[in-house]
Amino acid sequence: MEGAYDAVVVGSGFGGGITACRMAEQGWRVCALERGRRFGPGDFPDRPEQAPRMSWHPHHNPGGMFDLRIMRDIAVLSGTGVGGGSLVPTAIGVNPSKTIAALDERGVERLLVERGP
Ligand SMILES: Cc1cc2nc3c(=O)[nH]c(=O)nc-3n(C[C@H](O)[C@H](O)[C@H](O)COP(=O)(O)OP(=O)(O)OC[C@H]3O[C@@H](n4cnc5c(N)ncnc54)[C@H](O)[C@@H]3O)c2cc1C
Repeated sequence: MEGAYDAVVVGSGFGGGITACRMAEQGWRVCALERGRRFGPGDFPDRPEQAPRMSWHPHHNPGGMFDLRIMRDIAVLSGTGVGGGSLVPTAIGVNPSKTIAALDERGVERLLVERGP
């Protein structure tokens, strides 16, 4: 790690990963922090009996891929690792009805979503 950064991004999922990428493309020194490990081909489970060891826990299984938080009224499942939720998608893509992508004056891509009536 370097001694100083222009930006620190916590998490490397869809949000953090793209944010860090875009800032780095603009020449910023970016530190991206990720609590999970890096997964490669062959690291992904393909048998039901592998499921328990895929559950992430900071102490008991820091190499897991899924973080499941069960609270009183809600349960939250998220991906944990380099790539965040992009590690575990179920291939559902929903296009906004009217979307315009544009570059601002600094060359940074902005996604402008017009909400229809
Ligand atoms: C099983 C599953 C299937 C899904 N399928 C789809 C789909 O088909 N289509 C779709 O549109 N969406 C899908 N989603 C939802 C999608 O994955 C999320 O909406 C998206 O990942 C959210 O992006 P994010 O950047 O906000 O967070 P995430 O992608 O969850 O990334 C957050 C990252 O931050 C890291 N992190 C958290 N806390 C810390 C910390 N303190 N220090 C360091 N790192 C930290 C996490 O490890 C993680 O890598 C799915 C989600 C799950 C769980």
